[in-house]
Amino acid sequence: MDTIVVAGAGHAGTRLAAALRESGYSARLVLAGEEPGLPYRHPPLTKNYLGGELEEDELHFHPATFYRDNGIELINQRVAGIDRAGRAVRLADGQALGYDHLVLATGARNRRLGVAGDDLRGVLSLRTRQEAAALRGALATAKDIVVVGAGFIGMEFASTANRLGHRVTIVETLDRPMARLVSPQSGRRFTTLHELNGNRLIFGNGVVRLHGDPEGRVRAVELDDGTRLPADLVLVAVGVTPETGLARAAGLDVADGVVVDEYLLTSDPHISAIGDCAAFPHEGRRIRRESVQNALDHAGLVAARLTGSRQPYGKIPWFWTEQFDWTLQIAGHPDGHTASELHESAGGVFSHQLYQGRRLIAVESLNLPDDHFAALQKLSDAGEPILEAG
Ligand code: FAD
Repeated sequence: MDTIVVAGAGHAGTRLAAALRESGYSARLVLAGEEPGLPYRHPPLTKNYLGGELEEDELHFHPATFYRDNGIELINQRVAGIDRAGRAVRLADGQALGYDHLVLATGARNRRLGVAGDDLRGVLSLRTRQEAAALRGALATAKDIVVVGAGFIGMEFASTANRLGHRVTIVETLDRPMARLVSPQSGRRFTTLHELNGNRLIFGNGVVRLHGDPEGRVRAVELDDGTRLPADLVLVAVGVTPETGLARAAGLDVADGVVVDEYLLTSDPHISAIGDCAAFPHEGRRIRRESVQNALDHAGLVAARLTGSRQPYGKIPWFWTEQFDWTLQIAGHPDGHTASELHESAGGVFSHQLYQGRRLIAVESLNLPDDHFAALQKLSDAGEPILEAG
């Protein structure tokens, strides 16, 4: 193989480039990312970067010398098109780049709220380093903060803003926070945690409109029961959609994500897809996961395949969230659990085991990192391969 091109320089793409070199791939390697600057980590954006404890240059995966020293051609440009027949990509500046294998690691984009007023000034989103910097600036002067969406991003942002002295209102259409990834019991614990710290959570209500002043700045959030919440900063955190534009335009199979097989190959054998954008087979259906662990494990698997070791993907998922002084780690997926056991210890820390029938499907560990790693082992003993920590 003479040239591998990676489109997208986030967690998955950057890890893939490094892993290819670690696995002995020595030919041309291009990492093309549309964002300016060096590739960076996302998790601190809602946590210690937003909190002011970490500066922008501390977000980078690697210094610039790493890419030079490892012969990784880092190009800050969008991949604008794929010529599958000619096996070449077109960059935003028009330049064509041939490839033997192309890897799509294009991630996901934040959803918009899609109601009147969602383009007012003061209505912000959080995905990229630039958006996090804008939020950090806005927090310095904000008085009334409303978060729309009680997922990981919204809850973590609300916790950091609270730590900075703000009292935040979180609005969520469902009846609990982080409903997609954590159990109702853990969701309740985090609701209480926020409330004890002065944040307010409103469940079961949607936002119907944002109101602004004559200067175009947001002033209030209107809910579907007519409530108007004063707001001069609104964070919209209502989930993401996979970035599939490039794949779709190139005629690859796309569903909710770029469709790949168990080896993370798309419908074109010369193109793989990894990370948030990839929809892969899992227990008879096709899923996507939005986590660092998934991005890193996908990258490891494709690097191994491209350097001669072909294996199907079957890692146990794990996630974490940090809010206030609490870290919840989730091994496995709580979806569809039918029973659970909560083992609580002094200080409120707990290990929560979730079962489907008699099968252990997930373990949630609150401030118990050792239990989390033991849980991963236990889940792996139960039939799935152990995950390799990133
Ligand atoms: P990304 O890291 O998003 O990278 C995709 C990159 O591709 C982007 O830079 C994008 O601009 C670029 N791109 C898109 N299209 C093109 C194109 N055509 N050409 C070139 N470049 C392109 N996960 C956890 O597990 N734990 C956490 O605590 C956690 N915290 C998070 C906090 C925040 C604020 C955010 C936004 C996410 C967090 N996540 C967390 C999720 C995690 O960051 C993602 O799952 C992970 O980044 C996915 O990696 P990826 O490479 O698939 O996508």
